[in-house]
Amino acid sequence: MKLLAFRTESGQTRIGQLKADGEVLPLSYPDGREVSDLVDLIKSAVALNSLKTDEAALDIASVQLLAPIPRPARNLFCVGKNYSNHAQEFTKSGFDAGQTAADAIPSAPIIFSKTPQTVIAHGEPIWDAAGVSDAVDYEAELAIIIGKGGRGIAKENALDHVWGYTIVNDVTARDWQKRHKQWHMAKSFDTFAPLGPVAVTADELNGGNLDLKCWVNGELRQDANTRDLIFDIPTLIETLSAGISLIPGDIIATGTPEGVGIGFNPPRFLKRGDVVTIEVTGIGRLENKVGA
Ligand code: MG
Repeated sequence: MKLLAFRTESGQTRIGQLKADGEVLPLSYPDGREVSDLVDLIKSAVALNSLKTDEAALDIASVQLLAPIPRPARNLFCVGKNYSNHAQEFTKSGFDAGQTAADAIPSAPIIFSKTPQTVIAHGEPIWDAAGVSDAVDYEAELAIIIGKGGRGIAKENALDHVWGYTIVNDVTARDWQKRHKQWHMAKSFDTFAPLGPVAVTADELNGGNLDLKCWVNGELRQDANTRDLIFDIPTLIETLSAGISLIPGDIIATGTPEGVGIGFNPPRFLKRGDVVTIEVTGIGRLENKVGA
């Protein structure tokens, strides 16, 4: 099932089901309460096929989309250098001084995080960070949404903990990433996590085999498949949950493939007016313009 969050004309947040024909069915729980928060729905463990859809359908074009989880309960977990060709382009760019091709590929997942306040919806502008950064870059990624929480989750059981998937653009200020060593600030500028447009339940997708593409102003920049992840989804969940209890609604950005702006010579960073479009098979297209 494809689910999305939207704002009603009266300013309420609702969760709806997106049908193949572009209609949005506002959802209610079996007891009649409106579904207004995707994480609450995930936590409730209410069967999705028991939700009520007896309100009038809306046209997707007429609703104000929100990110499927507009304000995560805590930081988004993110994975760095999780595609070989991206790890190589990162090294070739000279970003990590002294690093060679031989040590470009990480031996264990590199995990960092972005603050919840970075999340914006499909269609909302990415801040160009004028006067703060000269090197704003895009990173197209598949994002996992955790359903059942837990600590010490073994690889073999990891997919039982995946509620579903969405798309994230792990926008990054490269100059801040480089200068400050730790990636946190560079990844957590306001608006630096476009998320959506929808969340798709895990039964509809094989997260380990999805085409992922990214265009800037219509020019294809990234073109990959999640089967090329260095550390696959079960490994990421096993690693993260070893010492940190995962909770329902946690978001894990799985890493970006080759073709980011810093990988070009000279680099091709984002500028005001650019449009970044990311498509993942079975999820849809996440599109955001760079603005002031
Ligand atoms: Mg990333």
